[in-house]
Amino acid sequence: MIKRIIAAFCVVFAAAMILVGCAPKSPSVIVSANGEIMGELTQTTWGSVEPTEEGYKSYVDAVIRETLDILCEQKNLSLGDADKILRTKGYRIETVFDEGVYKSMTEAQTSMVDNMAAAVTDLKGRVLAIYSVSDENNEHRNLACTSFYPCSAFKPLSVYAPALESGNISWSTMTVDSPVKKIEDAVGSLRDWPSNASGTYTNSNMDIKTAIKESINTVAVKTLINYGSANSAEFLSDNFGIDMSYETQQINAGREEDVLDNIALGYLAAGVNTVDMAGYYQIFANGGIYVKPYTIAKIIDDLGKVIYEAEPIGYQIISPETAFIMNSLLQEVVMPGGTGQAAGHSGKLVGGKTGTGENLAEGWNDNWFVGFTPEYTCAVWHSARMTSNVAAALFAELTDEIVINENAIFPPNENVKQIAYCTESGKRIGDNCKGMDIGWFMHDEIPEKCEEH
Ligand SMILES: [Zn+2]
Repeated sequence: MIKRIIAAFCVVFAAAMILVGCAPKSPSVIVSANGEIMGELTQTTWGSVEPTEEGYKSYVDAVIRETLDILCEQKNLSLGDADKILRTKGYRIETVFDEGVYKSMTEAQTSMVDNMAAAVTDLKGRVLAIYSVSDENNEHRNLACTSFYPCSAFKPLSVYAPALESGNISWSTMTVDSPVKKIEDAVGSLRDWPSNASGTYTNSNMDIKTAIKESINTVAVKTLINYGSANSAEFLSDNFGIDMSYETQQINAGREEDVLDNIALGYLAAGVNTVDMAGYYQIFANGGIYVKPYTIAKIIDDLGKVIYEAEPIGYQIISPETAFIMNSLLQEVVMPGGTGQAAGHSGKLVGGKTGTGENLAEGWNDNWFVGFTPEYTCAVWHSARMTSNVAAALFAELTDEIVINENAIFPPNENVKQIAYCTESGKRIGDNCKGMDIGWFMHDEIPEKCEEH
């Protein structure tokens, strides 16, 4: 009886509010690609949304960030006003979230790490799933959307792809694996820089393939110096919109030396997150086209009017030929002897790059593997205080159950040729060369025959 009285009162109250021009507030809802409600936005700060499933939290958070950006820009609103609209106007936000991909990821038997995050995009910019698991110190952070140093996972974007695109390097360009300079360490003694993960230098010629496969820091830094830090910063900010403001400022002030590790080794001042990285790596899998990753397909207002619809634009930022060669180079990383070998054991077509580095601000190591297949990209990050980098293994586990088209392949290219080359000179194999390897070259940039042996 009391319930009925309360219910009747509520109806009368709501009707009265509408009559006086004050409609009841209704939260916006976020729905997946196939219409499942993922969350209601009673609050829009991280941790106080109401996702229908706990695991949707990090994706819902990314959707809120994107919606606020859209509303602020479209209606010229302050962030606070956009936030208020989102909580009270009963919008329906349709996303590109793929429950199947997400469930495949959650079913993975992932290795024990402190904190981890992952993002999967298709090759047209759709963010299919986001995954974030935190320890108790980070439980209110969406780690998938938090920026960290990309470390060596940045090298293909900042050094190798643009240098290859400009004709500055080829698959077999030789660079001596030796230190670039001496630097002073914390206690004032001089040491060689940059150091390789192995702690040693071969002090001999190394091709680009080996430098990428084994993530050799000396070759990355020397290649960047040859190509030009300013060119790289411009490539990254113009094409991907990466925040290179600190690095550019340093370069313009004549302090290029100080930001070589930011650009070549991925200690980028502004950092990048997993969604960004998954987005950037699309170019290696789809023939060189970048589509800014997005979560929202459509926003419908309380009156049923579509107020926003995604119109993704693909930018050809490296040629299909450069993309093909980079793709093949990054497939080497997951083969035996590569730093990302653990990502490649599933037997699928996979390429990618590892990244490992110290993060003093957080008191942990940042560990990455960013990989791609003919259908999607997946960026995996995990922190580590005690463990070493297991991101490549996590990539294999997280993506193992994702349903794939067995016939999907990477875009073929008629303008690249496979050539045998001398592993000492990097030139086309001669009659007396001792070491031989095979690589992919632009048809009009085939190296000359080796006459040195
Ligand atoms: Zn030779």
